[in-house]
Amino acid sequence: LGTDNYTRIYEDGSVIFLEGESGDRAYVVEEGVVEIWCHRDNERVLLQELKPGAIFGEMSVIDGSPRSANASANGKTKLIEVTSHQLRSRLSNSDPIIQLLVKVLLERFRNERRVHRGDNLLSSTEVKANHLANLQQTGEDAIHKIRLEKELEVALQKEEFFLLYQPIVDLRDQRISGFEALIRWDNPLRGMINPAEFIELAEETRLIVPIGEWVVEQACADIAMLNSRFAAQENLFVNINFSGRQLMDKHFLKHLRKESERHSINPDLVNIEITEGIFLSGENLSDWLDESRTDGYKIVLDDFGTGYSSLSYLSKYPIDKVKVDKSFVQAMEKDASARAIIQAVIGIARAMNMTVVAEGVETSAQMKLCHDLGCEYGQGFLFGKPVTVDIVSEELSTSFPQNELALS
Ligand code: C2E
Ligand code: CA
Ligand code: CA
Repeated sequence: LGTDNYTRIYEDGSVIFLEGESGDRAYVVEEGVVEIWCHRDNERVLLQELKPGAIFGEMSVIDGSPRSANASANGKTKLIEVTSHQLRSRLSNSDPIIQLLVKVLLERFRNERRVHRGDNLLSSTEVKANHLANLQQTGEDAIHKIRLEKELEVALQKEEFFLLYQPIVDLRDQRISGFEALIRWDNPLRGMINPAEFIELAEETRLIVPIGEWVVEQACADIAMLNSRFAAQENLFVNINFSGRQLMDKHFLKHLRKESERHSINPDLVNIEITEGIFLSGENLSDWLDESRTDGYKIVLDDFGTGYSSLSYLSKYPIDKVKVDKSFVQAMEKDASARAIIQAVIGIARAMNMTVVAEGVETSAQMKLCHDLGCEYGQGFLFGKPVTVDIVSEELSTSFPQNELALS
């Protein structure tokens, strides 16, 4: 008798599941008592008595093995059903090391129970093979992750990271106004690795803090060098990406201050790129955002339009620039709604005194549309791919030879 479609009431003594059955759901006891039991020498042996709040039946769902015991209601009992989909999607979204831990612990638990009972529940060879393959895959994923984590640590010590710079141009005359610093990892065995493959892991392991500090140090040194070399371009700015974990580190602003002072960079030329995701962290961001602003650093909201895009962030936090995500820029030629979104963002930004940067500009048609709609800045392969600081310097000396200081 179900009270709704996820809770179920069992009368006293009724069976919830039987040993050997395959399990497609787990249960949480909401009211009453559940008994977990097995047969030993034709006798009913009580293994566990579960009270409200306990979860049971999850083992079969996690590792696909048959139910290893019987479950029945002791008195009238109300259970919440947790479907295999609910359970598996959570597990598969979790860290591979946690998945491995869960599965290995389950395996150990089952083995102990088997030894204790003197039997072997994994009788079918097919079930056994599937089970082992599943465990092996989880193990391989976890090993891959642990290895990558170690390699990231070594990469930091051995200075295998480097920065590329992508120009950000003024759309009125397409002159370079500044650069976005983009990290790369030159791994001796695997070659060049893009940030998409390691930034997330660096965040999970908190290695993002020292990596991010290295990015700040390098980006400040490079932009100071470029600005001193190209005198009349003294106002070249640099955009640095910061992820949520970095910003939660209380020292981040102190470190940024120290590095920009060391290289005598006007904070006005350093743009802190953040994404909307950090506003969901629940952390109090207003303090450091206000402090950065007071120092003169600019805040750029990156990938705008993707994710949660709540306009309330724009009024709540002191944001100076918005970067319209490349997906809109790339769709705008054919898709009127993408165009409408960019137009709306520009309208809001204008009203709130923010600057708009169009990201991922690849064609002159996109550039023209962005400019016509009122974007001030553009970034994308049309203007230049990310390149090393040496190439940037070379290119600037061809574009602005008259600005280059004679190096004595
Ligand atoms: P992002 O901040 O959105 O950076 C822009 C990405 O778009 C870069 O990818 C860039 O190479 C790419 N891109 C630029 N112009 C175009 C274009 O015209 N067309 C297309 N299709 N793509 C374009 P990249 O360098 O692989 O960086 C990926 C992401 O990694 C960045 O996205 C950023 O979120 C993160 N990231 C990069 N460097 C750092 C860093 O130093 N620290 C942190 N925390 N994250 C970083
Ligand atoms: Ca960015
Ligand atoms: Ca972006």
